[in-house]
Amino acid sequence: MTRYIFITGGVVSSLGKGLASAALGALLQARGYRVRLCKLDPYLNVDPGTMSPFQHGEVYVTDDGAETDLDLGHYERFTGVPAKGTDNTTTGRIYTSVLQKERKGDYLGATIQVIPHITNEIKDFIREKDGTAEFVLCEIGGTVGDIESLPFLEAIRQFGNEVGHARALFIHVTLLPYIPAAGELKTKPTQHSVKELMSAGIRPDILLCRADRAIDEDERAKIALFCNIDRKKVIPAVDVSSIYEVPLTYHREGLDQQVMESFGIKDLPSLDLSIWDNIVHNIKAPEGEVTIAIVGKYTNLADSYKSLNEALAHGGIANKVRVSLKFIESQIFESEDPEAHLRGVNGILVPGGFGERGAEGKIRAARYAREKKIPYFGICFGMQMAVIEVARNLCGIKGANSTEFGTCDDAVIGLMTEWVKGNQKESRSAKGDLGGTMRLGSYPAALAPGSKVSEAYGSKMIKERHRHRYEVNINYRAKLENAGLIFSGLSPDGNLPEIVEMKDHPWFIGVQFHPELKSKPFEPHPLFVSFIEAAVKQGRMV
Ligand code: GLN
Repeated sequence: MTRYIFITGGVVSSLGKGLASAALGALLQARGYRVRLCKLDPYLNVDPGTMSPFQHGEVYVTDDGAETDLDLGHYERFTGVPAKGTDNTTTGRIYTSVLQKERKGDYLGATIQVIPHITNEIKDFIREKDGTAEFVLCEIGGTVGDIESLPFLEAIRQFGNEVGHARALFIHVTLLPYIPAAGELKTKPTQHSVKELMSAGIRPDILLCRADRAIDEDERAKIALFCNIDRKKVIPAVDVSSIYEVPLTYHREGLDQQVMESFGIKDLPSLDLSIWDNIVHNIKAPEGEVTIAIVGKYTNLADSYKSLNEALAHGGIANKVRVSLKFIESQIFESEDPEAHLRGVNGILVPGGFGERGAEGKIRAARYAREKKIPYFGICFGMQMAVIEVARNLCGIKGANSTEFGTCDDAVIGLMTEWVKGNQKESRSAKGDLGGTMRLGSYPAALAPGSKVSEAYGSKMIKERHRHRYEVNINYRAKLENAGLIFSGLSPDGNLPEIVEMKDHPWFIGVQFHPELKSKPFEPHPLFVSFIEAAVKQGRMV
């Protein structure tokens, strides 16, 4: 029997509902349950694939090639359950589906309305998760009170009614702001938010109260009284220094016990939190520190590189070091010497990116890393920029560039119009839609024996997730390899370069895929483990 937990948010956005859902998922797993997490997003985009990272943070890509909300990354990092495209939907997708059905005549004769047609479509999305999971955790994006959220709230209200209270639970995440003049945490916004939720017909079973300091018993009792909720079900969620502490602190505050109690589960299965204890122990007692420079474009919004930041931290956990990140806006290297900014760092990482702005700066960062023998990790765009750098400065191909920035003399990076996925041919045209037309999702790559990457992975065949339109042009392989840039990973048909690495360099690797998406704190990604290990060695040398 599947039970459903709905997580809504109130008072303000960015409360960490995704993290809260992921941590609760991890706690339920620690009690031996099978879980599945999903997210309903109220915005109108069909998926976040076309949104700027400045607007919405990172786009998380699943194995099956869906461009999804970054919260799915939290879910996968905390539970290890690979996210699927069907774990995320948006108002845009729901309406698209309903309108397609209407055109096809599926509702012939009916007037199409928000209730029941849109709400039914939302309920179908939730119900489709009903498979092997014992708990489905469903997060509702946005904040209660937003116009866009209303159909979602109505749908989960109906859903709760249909499956019955024994199988549906509502958790509301709110904020208790601290007001310095009063010297106390305020409960009024939470009271109002619960009232708003009640006006949508949903009575929260559990309140998860975010605060930047301890919530005292009086405040808890006050919230319980005004919101008509058992005091034990008003759970403090106070800020912690590492997100991986969250499952432990939630457990200490009684979240999983209260969830069990609300569902009427009397015999609590035993709990094993040892993986989280170990992770937190390694984070809190590092034996050293390395500094990694991230040279990118979206450096002033940390959420743009969410999975990347986490994967680097996981590499640190594996090497028992703290990884301190230095974000550098790449454009700066177009007018300033990289030396001033990069001197002393133990590793340089150029992450994924789009468009010409800042590209030359990234090329200079790759050159600096290559010449100074500092570990370099180029991810997707960062690989492409490193290839351009080597082509220009070691192969003497002065006009080497990417066709992403316009026509050029030597397209070492070019648009692939046709490629193979499994047994199928995929294709795109230069003038086609931008949404959903990239090489997306999991693709295999064959690794060259004896290469640094095959050593790091400990295997000859890997599968990694992609999200890009352009590829390294295989026709330049001989020239680049003569200059020392080895093509150490290729698509199985040998047409698409997936990994390059520099000979005679401590660690210079570019990958066309996004390894950060699959890294977990309890299973750090081999390339991040190896990169941080190289950074530790580099640190010992200086
Ligand atoms: N803009 C590049 C491309 O489309 C790289 C994309 C990325 O880094 N994810 O190929």
